[in-house]
Amino acid sequence: MVFLPKQTPHDLTLQRAEIAIVENENSKPRRKYLGMSSIGGACSRKLWYSYHTPMTETFDAPTIMRFEDGHRSEALIADRLKATPGIMLLTEDDNGRQFGVEDFEGQFRGHLDGKILGLVHAPSVWHVWEAKCTNLKKFMQFKLLKADLGEQNTLKQWDATYYAQAQSYMGYTGLDDHYLTVCTPGGRDWEAVCTRFNEVDFEAIRDKAHRILGAMAPLARLSNDPSWYECKWCFYKDHCHGIAKLSA
Ligand code: SF4
Repeated sequence: MVFLPKQTPHDLTLQRAEIAIVENENSKPRRKYLGMSSIGGACSRKLWYSYHTPMTETFDAPTIMRFEDGHRSEALIADRLKATPGIMLLTEDDNGRQFGVEDFEGQFRGHLDGKILGLVHAPSVWHVWEAKCTNLKKFMQFKLLKADLGEQNTLKQWDATYYAQAQSYMGYTGLDDHYLTVCTPGGRDWEAVCTRFNEVDFEAIRDKAHRILGAMAPLARLSNDPSWYECKWCFYKDHCHGIAKLSA
């Protein structure tokens, strides 16, 4: 006999808290630029929508709570690294703001988690520092890739979006090295890889940003099938595939 877990109704107070979480997050002003943190996304049309249309992507409570955990984890990892002898980690510029980079008159922008010096394998080389917090499955994939491919090849294979972000930050800061720390929720386990700057990949990312910013109409779809897995979860799905029906 198979025992299925009983479905208990979600606590009413927490439901109310989640409504407030969603309202607070989704009432924040939308950003008015194409982000380097998302330029590596698989669908250029989705990026086009995010920049060119007034539609603002909204998030549900579980997603927002995951973002919150990511911010807390980043602060925790920064504290640990700052407390490590020999490490200098800067998370703010001289004006107390996040390090920012931009191109195309500010239409393409990114914000670094930090710059780090004193890594054991290259103590005198400044690296761009980026921190990610992932679920256990993705974390294990990261560790396996590092073991199989070596750390210089891991990031590109592990996550194209994070890789493009890393290359953008290196390209625009002029730093040739990137140090990515990845942890599990709560920071109980962590691992890191270094990645070198790749001029060819950086120029391809820059071209992609230029194409998206300059296009007057939506770019080609990633898939014409709205049930394709990336379309199924896409915030712009109805608009994107609705237009297809109208113009068919
Ligand atoms: S629905 Fe699919 S094709 Fe359309 S923008 Fe989203 S991911 Fe791209």
